[in-house]
Amino acid sequence: MKAAKFDYARPATAAEAFSLLKDDTVIVKPMGGSQSLGPMLNLRLARPQKVVDVSGIEEMRTVSKEGNRVRVGAAVTHAEIEDGVFEPLVGHMMQYVAERIAYRAVRNRGTVGGSLAHADPAADWVLATAALGAEVEIASAEGKRRSSMPEFMLGAYTVDLQPNELITSVVVPAKAAGSRWGYYKFCRKTGEFAEASCAAWFDPASKTARIVLGALDGAPQLLPELSARVAEQGPAAATREAIEAAVAVVTPEKSTVQRNLCVTAVERCLKQALGE
Ligand SMILES: Cc1cc2nc3c(=O)[nH]c(=O)nc-3n(C[C@H](O)[C@H](O)[C@H](O)COP(=O)(O)OP(=O)(O)OC[C@H]3O[C@@H](n4cnc5c(N)ncnc54)[C@H](O)[C@@H]3O)c2cc1C
Repeated sequence: MKAAKFDYARPATAAEAFSLLKDDTVIVKPMGGSQSLGPMLNLRLARPQKVVDVSGIEEMRTVSKEGNRVRVGAAVTHAEIEDGVFEPLVGHMMQYVAERIAYRAVRNRGTVGGSLAHADPAADWVLATAALGAEVEIASAEGKRRSSMPEFMLGAYTVDLQPNELITSVVVPAKAAGSRWGYYKFCRKTGEFAEASCAAWFDPASKTARIVLGALDGAPQLLPELSARVAEQGPAAATREAIEAAVAVVTPEKSTVQRNLCVTAVERCLKQALGE
């Protein structure tokens, strides 16, 4: 099947994109790398009358370090992060995650902003940015605002975003001496979405720990008690029993097999984060 007819615009500036998205006489949809929107257009699950391609907006294609934070433009591709094009993300958890998204053809075009806006529960960026405690920067013709992860993702394919708004960037912690992270996902084969996934971020300086479980029915879920105990006691608190108890709270609908996959994903993620 092919997409129904739509108008296409590729603005060079965010201001131009905002004014195109403001038009409420037609159904307008932003486009990043089109890796999720493209199939939806072809299947006619999405039928916008106008598509606004944001991939040419330079101000959304930059990465900058600002103090202890890094601002990642929404139109930056997974492949650019994987390739280390932006120094602040070299050796960062985001580079490790980018390398593991789908396969190269998808990574060449798929963008951070598109992935966050699409909010597939099994997607990598929604999980990694939740563990990083990222803030999503959103803008429209009316102004700018921020939405913190994981609050930005309200549920499966549902986010805190109005039709006239764009994600312009995502702000994550910069690499810091002493900070530790882990990322583990089970995929049936390379390039597929995760069946179970976990991301963890520890910053001893601010005594922050976030262990987040992904690939659930809805948004990724923070494991708050386990995070607090591991932050306090280190690897000693990450016992199989403690992980099982934490996972059970957020997976009431899962079968034993699926829950075991989640438990093992957390265990392996924490081993990566906390191992010597
Ligand atoms: C075969 C295949 C395998 C995949 N496997 C994985 C995987 O393992 N892990 C994973 O995480 N992802 C995977 N993906 C998804 C991929 O990462 C996509 O890149 C991502 O979901 C969407 O990004 P995009 O830039 O292509 O967005 P698009 O497809 O262009 O857009 C997706 C949605 O976001 C909206 N949007 C786009 N940009 C913005 C913006 N800046 N502001 C507001 N709204 C915006 C669009 O309107 C649309 O609703 C896979 C995709 C394919 C095709």
